[in-house]
Amino acid sequence: MWLSVARYAALMLATIYCVFTAASVTLNQYTLKAIDGNPEISVGYGAFSDATFTASKGTVSIPKGVDVWLRVQVPESMLNSKVVVSIERPSLGGVEFYLMATDDSLYPVSELNISAALPNLSPHFIFEPNTPSRVVFAKISSPYVSTSEVEIIPYSNYVKTTNVRLFFMGVFFGVMCLISIFMLSTGVISKRTSLLAVGGYLLSLALLYVAHKGLTDVVISYQNSANFMHFSDSFMCFSLGFCLLFFHYFLTQNRLARKFKSGIKLIAGVYVLIGIAAAVANVDLPFAMQSTMVIVAIVLSAIILASQDKSNAKEVYFCVAIWSPIVAVLIGFAASQTINSTTEHVSIVNDSLIALHLILLLLFVIWHDAEKRRIYIHYAQFDKETALPNKFALFGALAKLEEQNKPHTLLLFKPLILPSIRLNFGLTFANQHISKLFKEVHEQINTYGSAAVANKGDTHIYRLEDQVFAIVLDGKIEVSQVEQYVCILSSVFEEGVWYKDTKIVDSLDVGVANYPMHAKTTEKLVQRALQALNTKTHNGQRWHLFDVESSMSSERQLKLTSFLKSAIEQEQFSLFFQPQVDLRTGRVFGSEVLIRWLQPDLGYIPPDEFIPIAESSGQIYEITEWVVEQALKYQAQITKQIPEHVISINVSGRDLSRRELSVQLITLINELSLAPSQIMIEITESVTIGNETELKGMLDDYRSIGVKVAIDDFGTGYSSLAYLSKLGFDELKIDKSFVMDIETSKSNQTICKATCDMAHSLGSKVVAEGVEDINSYIRLQAYGCDYAQGYFISRPLPFNEFLSWLEKVNSASDIKSFLIR
Ligand code: C2E
Ligand code: CA
Ligand code: CA
Repeated sequence: MWLSVARYAALMLATIYCVFTAASVTLNQYTLKAIDGNPEISVGYGAFSDATFTASKGTVSIPKGVDVWLRVQVPESMLNSKVVVSIERPSLGGVEFYLMATDDSLYPVSELNISAALPNLSPHFIFEPNTPSRVVFAKISSPYVSTSEVEIIPYSNYVKTTNVRLFFMGVFFGVMCLISIFMLSTGVISKRTSLLAVGGYLLSLALLYVAHKGLTDVVISYQNSANFMHFSDSFMCFSLGFCLLFFHYFLTQNRLARKFKSGIKLIAGVYVLIGIAAAVANVDLPFAMQSTMVIVAIVLSAIILASQDKSNAKEVYFCVAIWSPIVAVLIGFAASQTINSTTEHVSIVNDSLIALHLILLLLFVIWHDAEKRRIYIHYAQFDKETALPNKFALFGALAKLEEQNKPHTLLLFKPLILPSIRLNFGLTFANQHISKLFKEVHEQINTYGSAAVANKGDTHIYRLEDQVFAIVLDGKIEVSQVEQYVCILSSVFEEGVWYKDTKIVDSLDVGVANYPMHAKTTEKLVQRALQALNTKTHNGQRWHLFDVESSMSSERQLKLTSFLKSAIEQEQFSLFFQPQVDLRTGRVFGSEVLIRWLQPDLGYIPPDEFIPIAESSGQIYEITEWVVEQALKYQAQITKQIPEHVISINVSGRDLSRRELSVQLITLINELSLAPSQIMIEITESVTIGNETELKGMLDDYRSIGVKVAIDDFGTGYSSLAYLSKLGFDELKIDKSFVMDIETSKSNQTICKATCDMAHSLGSKVVAEGVEDINSYIRLQAYGCDYAQGYFISRPLPFNEFLSWLEKVNSASDIKSFLIR
């Protein structure tokens, strides 16, 4: 851009220097007057009747649409040098030179092919030295009331001033183009319509400036340049359109209706279209139309400005300041047209006002961007709803303390009623409520808190999550001090706030973790505090300190959940068998299948730990499917050795409702030619509570296949035998907790005896689990218990060991003496 500006300037310079040679002359006296004879002249004539300028300059008033004739005579004293008669072109008007021949007739200079360079930019006529004629006539006209400056100057001066003028115009135009192109390209790249609007506006202004000043004279032929001047109306339309878009996109914080906003865009579009149409049709827009467009644009801008929020006041003032120079120019122009005279030479004033407008506009864009960045940065650190510092601010503060290796305590709290306030009173009130409460909390903490706990400095409240808030307590703090903080916090929340006629009282969950005691990094500290916050409250405890054990278990749970996914594929599961002995015959009755998981990283994981996880994560179905398939395949092998062997399989409560399980059982029973009556499904007593009819239906499904059902862990739930009998079952397994210490607990003895009796009366068999010694074995035998299972008989065994155990038992004559061995 600068390059072309420089090029145009150089070109201009070269042209002028080639055509003319500079000559220096001392100015003397000039004769400058309007000529007689033409009635149209009278207006101009009045101003100059026989006037003789004794100065180098004069200002001519040009009435609207009337040609003003000037007769310019170069004084004798300048006869020997090259002299220029320069006449300023009035706004959007023209200047034509006529040379008076010796016969007193006038010839248009353009027809005489005598150089009258830059007819639009700087109309002038050059007198070569020793030319016979020293008189030139000029016809000045303008569609508006305007003024024109007339000057007779030595050629060298003219060249100098013209070059200087050209240089500044080029610079002005170049800078405007440069900035507008920068804005436009940034707008395109960053997809910011507001910048596109400013870019478009600046570009239209730059082109309007060029057209208005006739600057195109320098680069294109004078005729084309004159044609280009006609586009100035179009450029004005464009600038008005983009100006409206500027207001629309830069000032968005307004309460204007959607329709109005689209209306603005529509009008802006229409302005641009009018501009294009005028350019294509090559017509000048009527003055009335232009004025209406300007007035509409000003009114719309004013409405947009007036509708801005208070928070936008600065932008509004800035916009008013930016456009006031333009409005001043317009008012000045309008005034001159209505009063029908311009006495003052206002073009320099106007140029300065436009330059001021552009500078202000640029400053605004820069300021606006900086402001936006400041707001972004602010909201990167502060919560919009409550104006509290946010998560990132909290992490920043914690990281700083960590860096300095300062001990600190993170206290998280969760107002429990917040979600229901939102539901009942709406978001706005909830936020107002929070803000009000937190103001209170902040004050309390900083007055009582600092006195009681001697925590120096301002204690901030951060918003960590939607409902979780945080306080960072600096320095070493005792548990009792944390307690005090919790008290302060709770009391504010319990005090409540009034809403309409309701007092909203809130209670808190609080979780606390300490650096470096519970965590050595900021991230871990926040995690620990969150874990503490989410610990279930027991016996009215108000707050929780981070607890290593409970967190480890939750971390381990997460790990196990993810490891479980690949456990089946990677064959990490195996089945163990725990024998059950018939207490009447002393022979093996069957065995319970128990799953084992050997995880390569974590080692052996007990089923009590992973089965509940598999249940809650929905992975249990796959596991049960695998267990059932394996167990039944083993059963097929075992029955070859012990044909009456009953296999017991544990089924989770969740599996029961799935049809697929019974289908799988039927398929496998058929495939492996198994006796369904030798398959026992164990379901725990706790599963049987509730929806009796549904459960009965499910169990009936299994029994219709011929498969038997056992109630596991009997005695741990709250169901009565009477209830269970309605469901129908084949076997009752007394929980090992009643059996393991049967020798020492009288009550357990009673329970076991009664259970056996009642189960028998209902026609069911009884299994005692957890038989750990010979005495329990004999006692249960005496109670009439049917089967025994427990470490006394055997621990759960891998399949091969189980088979060899079976062989040994079968060959033994007396089972008791075999087991005691
Ligand atoms: P459960 O069904 O009550 O299984 C009996 C548990 O008691 C087994 O623990 C067994 O090793 C243990 N046990 C047996 N005799 C004695 C004894 O004399 N003394 C003591 N102290 N314990 C004894 P295990 O194998 O750790 O299984 C624990 C629980 O995991 C099972 O309790 C069962 O609820 C569940 N489980 C095991 N395998 C599976 C399975 O394949 N599927 C499902 N859904 N659950 C299973
Ligand atoms: Ca069981
Ligand atoms: Ca059990």
